[in-house]
Amino acid sequence: MIRPLLLITACAATLAACQAQQEEDARDVLNMENDAQAVPVNGAAETMGTSTTGTGMMQAAELRTADGRQVGTVSTRDEGGVTVLTVAVQGMPQGTYGMHVHAVGKCESPKFESAGAHWNPENRQHGTTNPQGAHAGDLENITVGQAGSGGVTANLRNVALRGGMTPMLDEDGAALMIHAKADDYRTDPSGNSGDRIACAVLGAGGAGTES
Ligand code: ZN
Repeated sequence: MIRPLLLITACAATLAACQAQQEEDARDVLNMENDAQAVPVNGAAETMGTSTTGTGMMQAAELRTADGRQVGTVSTRDEGGVTVLTVAVQGMPQGTYGMHVHAVGKCESPKFESAGAHWNPENRQHGTTNPQGAHAGDLENITVGQAGSGGVTANLRNVALRGGMTPMLDEDGAALMIHAKADDYRTDPSGNSGDRIACAVLGAGGAGTES
């Protein structure tokens, strides 16, 4: 009888720690359930399988606004020396928005300044029409239609996701940023694209997202 009583006392003394452990256990269970659901076991799962998160080895990250609302996904995959980056958004106002790979895989609201500048390992200026451009992380604008959705697939040549001298996903990772205005593809350092409004941490499942 003494032993269980002691255990309960110990747990009460560090209630916070106990709760944290319990929540962790609950999360583990959830994760296992998610893994199980990744295998299409019924009709519903198969119907949903066309989403960007359901394509095997592709790594999908969540794109979130400063208030934490998910407005899309970003997936990256390596296709033999070409990095393919696929951005799909939904639930955004109609418009055209600048979009770039930023140097640090950290999305801290409200301004996402934690993601650093445009990913620019070659020290060039911003913009594909800038004579001194462009940044390796410069991308085409994304257009969101009336229904609030849009998508861009970018094939980044000579960009290694991992390995080599200047991998995109280096020690501090990388982030995909959507800005408030369209990029003019010329003005250093950010194409006059305005505030940072949505951010995704690129890499293993978007780990490291903070809000
Ligand atoms: Zn740039």
